[in-house]
Formats: sequence, C-alpha cells, structure tokens
Amino acid sequence: MLEKIDLRELSEISDTRPSFVSVYLNAMDDRTEKFLNKRERDCLNALKQERELKEIFKKNMEKVREFLKTGKTGGAKSYAIFSSSPKNFFYGYELPLEVENQLIVDTSPYIRPLAMLEEEWESMAIVLLDHSNARLYMISSAMIQDTKKMHKDIMNKHKKGGWSQMRFQRLRKGAIDHFFKEVSEYLEGFLEKENVRRIILAGPGSAKKEFAEYLPEPTQKKVISIIDEDIDVPEGQLLSDSFENFFKKEREEENEMVANLRAEILKGGLVAYGVDDTLAAVTEGRAELLLINMGKRAVGWKCELCKIFKPGSAETCESCGKPVFNVDLVEELVEAAKSLGTTLEFVKDNEFLDELGGVAAFLRF
Ligand SMILES: [Zn+2]
Repeated sequence: MLEKIDLRELSEISDTRPSFVSVYLNAMDDRTEKFLNKRERDCLNALKQERELKEIFKKNMEKVREFLKTGKTGGAKSYAIFSSSPKNFFYGYELPLEVENQLIVDTSPYIRPLAMLEEEWESMAIVLLDHSNARLYMISSAMIQDTKKMHKDIMNKHKKGGWSQMRFQRLRKGAIDHFFKEVSEYLEGFLEKENVRRIILAGPGSAKKEFAEYLPEPTQKKVISIIDEDIDVPEGQLLSDSFENFFKKEREEENEMVANLRAEILKGGLVAYGVDDTLAAVTEGRAELLLINMGKRAVGWKCELCKIFKPGSAETCESCGKPVFNVDLVEELVEAAKSLGTTLEFVKDNEFLDELGGVAAFLRF
C-alpha cells in the first residue's frame, strides 16, 4: 500500500556511484515485459566500459526479477522496485494504481512517481446515508480499505390509530438522532485510524445535510461535497462520483495555491520560483511548500560528493573535479523536499506556474 512506503527513507539514501536501480512497472500493460528486457539490454550496453558498475547493475536486476517472480502477492496494478546491491538495499512494492514503465540507474532511488501518487491519492471517507441506513467507506490509494454498513429500524409512516401525531414525530426524531450519533461516532473511529483530509456525504433527500450538523467541527471542515445519490447506488457509481468531486477539490486547492503564489510575488513576499532558485531554497531548508507542475522536467547534473546540483550539462564537478551525473532536477527537488519534510504539491497543467519555470516554493525565511 502506498501509505506504507517511507518516502523519507527512500529520499535519504544515496551512493557516490550510480549503484541504484529504480524500476516502475505497469502490470496492466502487456508491453511491460518487453520494456523491462529492452531497458536492461540498453543499460548493460551503456555500462559496457564500466565493469564494476555493470556487475552491480546485473546483481540489481537479478533481485528485481526475483521479486517479480516470487515476491509479489498478486492483484497489484503496478510495481515500484529499488535495489542497490553494494548498499544492501532492496524494496519491492505492489501498488494499487497504474504507473508509467520506467527503469532508472542513478546514485539514489528515483521517487518522483511515488511522491506524485501519494500526493494525488490522499485518503478520503465517504458516508452514504438516509434516515435509517448508512454505508461508510474508507478509501486510500484509490482502494476501499474499510467499509461499514449500519441500519436502524425507524418508523417511516404514522400507523393508523395508536400514537398521536406529535408523539410519533418525537419518537421518530429521537430514533434518527440516535442513529446519526452512532454513524458520526463510527466515522470518527475511521478518521482516527487514517489521516483523512476529505469527506464526502452522499444520499437521497435531506438526511445527509442534517447529518452534517452532527459532526464535530474539525470533521465538518473536512466535508468537501454533499452529493445526491440513491441509497442503493451501486458501489462503483458511488466511488466514481466521489472521485470526481475529490479531484475537482484537489484542482481547486492547487489553483488557490498558485493564486496565493501570484499574490506573494506581486507584494515581494517570501517565495522562490524557477528551477535554480527553488532548488537552492529547498536544499537549504527554507521552503515550506513546494509546487511542481506535474509534467515538468529540468536537465541538470549533480555531484554526490559535494552535494550540489546545477542546471545544464557537465562532465565534471566545478568544485571537486570528479565526474558528475546527469539528473532531472525536479527529481532532486522531490527528494530534497521529502528528506527535509517540505510539503509537496503537484499541480496539474497550470499556465502561470509553467511561465515561472514549472516549480515554485513558499519560503519560511
Ligand atoms: Zn563535486
């Protein structure tokens, strides 16, 4: 599961040589095996002159293939695998979401795809209810992790004779009150277990809005939409409607952050933008929130000895003279942010952020 992956740990380990292989494989794509074979051949070819690195790569690939043969439990949509034999480092993960096939040889694990999945697919709770039935769903990594059905017998019609209308209404109201409290308590239990930022309330009629009033204030604030659904809506439909709202909210929040960024720039506030300035701010630990346009890449090089990153291409380090590695500076940004605890937000297709160089950060100082 995505939330079990320690991106911080992955971001902190590195080697002075490119002894790490990071492999992302899409299990749903029938070209995946071909991709893996071809990338393996290409890398072996590229490492022809470097006997030691070639041996390391071979060992790493043996471990990767071993995991693919025996390590998986089945049902995953993709895999993320990291190996460095000299560092005795190996992790194989099964992911519930699809990723693009990639195989990268570098001095550290390539974590950007995982960081993006983690940020995009935050946990969410869904409560579908009317006055006597409720279904609760706990979703994370785009999968149902937990679910609960609740029901309470509540008289819906005033039976002929017997109680007076007023007494009937009072009893019915009391029963609903009791039911909503029970559902709310169950929901709180869900929220304690997972770090949920978003809740969706669904159902027919007015019950869902009445129920919202029963939630404690911090929980109320997490409700992002209240949507109309039949009480017996199929699970797939409920999930797809919920995700639509979830991502609408995600995009809204991103646009809000970029609007704040623009405002800060206009008043000369504490922000950095463009790859150079942002990378400097993040690696110096000055960044609080890092914004990255999803498709952004930036060619650069890094020296693992001096711990410096520079844009453009180079063969040797300008400070120590040792050979350097070509890297995607955006990946370096992601790794630095993860290891320093900077909040990361991937932004989808934002033109203004793109004009600023595709990356920007709000700074602490
Ligand atoms: Zn250097």
